[in-house]
Amino acid sequence: MLDSTLQETYDAVLRRNPGEPEFHQAVREVFSSLEVIQDRHPEYTDQGIITRLCEPERQIIFRVPWVDDQGTVQVNRGFRVEYNSALGPYKGGLRFHPSVNVGIVKFLGFEQIFKNSLTGLPIGGGKGGSDFDPHGRSDGEVMRFCQSFMTELHRHIGEYTDVPAGDIGVGAREIGYLFGQYKRLTNKYEAGTLTGKGLDWGGSLVRKEATGYGAAIFADEMLKARGESFDGRKVAISGSGNVAIYAAEKTAQLGGIAVTASDSSGYVVDEDGLDLELLKQIKEVERGRIAEYADRRGGRSRFVEGGSVWDVPVDIALPSATQNELDADAARTLVKNGVKAVSEGANMPCTPDAVEVFREAGIAYGPGKAANAGGVATSALEMQQNASRDAWSFDYTEGRLTDIMVGIHRTCLETAEEYGRPGDYVVGANVAGFRKVADAMIAFGVI
Ligand code: NAP
Repeated sequence: MLDSTLQETYDAVLRRNPGEPEFHQAVREVFSSLEVIQDRHPEYTDQGIITRLCEPERQIIFRVPWVDDQGTVQVNRGFRVEYNSALGPYKGGLRFHPSVNVGIVKFLGFEQIFKNSLTGLPIGGGKGGSDFDPHGRSDGEVMRFCQSFMTELHRHIGEYTDVPAGDIGVGAREIGYLFGQYKRLTNKYEAGTLTGKGLDWGGSLVRKEATGYGAAIFADEMLKARGESFDGRKVAISGSGNVAIYAAEKTAQLGGIAVTASDSSGYVVDEDGLDLELLKQIKEVERGRIAEYADRRGGRSRFVEGGSVWDVPVDIALPSATQNELDADAARTLVKNGVKAVSEGANMPCTPDAVEVFREAGIAYGPGKAANAGGVATSALEMQQNASRDAWSFDYTEGRLTDIMVGIHRTCLETAEEYGRPGDYVVGANVAGFRKVADAMIAFGVI
């Protein structure tokens, strides 16, 4: 239950944004943590901060026409939600997936505000994407789509305005086509306008690894706070994209054994620990399906079509595929099997009921806006390198990422303690992320 002021604001969100359940869910999740600060900070209510945060500063929706390999005209819809610029230029990824709609982009943009605030770096929150599905499309089709998408988007972005990056369905190939078109249209090599770039043309070492590494580092910090570690622990990871692959890599470096990966067709279990070179070859180089992993790996690995990756008994779970992929039943199975920590590599992968199951069972649960902030933090480090025409080493950049993740973990714990909810990373992340943004918004007046 929310208190009456928050409930009124939430009712207005439901009324004004019909048919956007993921956006409602993300707002409700943050509101559930805000009661603890309302009494201590009446200025947030007086200045309408919470109401203002429920409305993006700007939403852009546009047509993306392109021609496929058969010569047929295709039309997709493009989105960019420039959510909040209190702390810096709008910053957040682009998602290309058939499920993308304005509600999904708003939920992701809303989360991004607090996540970016938690990094301690000067970045506001935004998100974008399209209902375009890159699966099964040729490079030429992806290029023509990206060029058409950027032909509209370029009017709205820039290194001091809005800086997109990758997300589901948008990796180095797509960022390359997008940046190429941006450069051509603007006649400027403005590298700081997009992050996740290739290493030869303004990208940063560690950006590819950052989100997955960060989610594993956050899990490690939660375990250490309880006198535990990754050492010899079995780890379930969902997804087999950018976040999942590097969550598995950091798991191995920390002494854990990543035993699962998945995609939308099913999951693989490999009791000997995932062979990361094989996984990268299949998913990054060949753009294949996860089932091929079990075929080629042999031994004790097997592919399970459909089903839930969370049925596999493990000590640590790193959900790294998509929103609402881990429900209450899956959470109960994980708890029954003895899971100790859950760290979200994906955005909002656990349903609210699943989070409640973890909370009741006393499981260390790290919400995505804290646990997966390493990706956007390293994007901000890429922007720093672009601004100073510099390129940092892998070790130095990874050191910065690790410090940032350790700092976010500490901030969450300290804030939760300060507001009377010790050990509650959800309250810690929401309150700490919210306060910085709210204070900046008050400083700027009503704009
Ligand atoms: P990605 O490289 O495109 O990989 C996504 C993975 O998740 C793929 O294995 C995909 O399988 C699976 N997946 C996607 N939608 C699914 C669905 N509806 N059902 C089942 N499986 C699904 O994307 P990513 O960059 O790793 O992103 C994964 C998550 O992390 C997303 O929630 C994203 O918002 C979040 N995140 C990413 C970053 C980043 O830096 N990339 C930063 C912060 C948060 P299929 O190929 O079968 O679709």
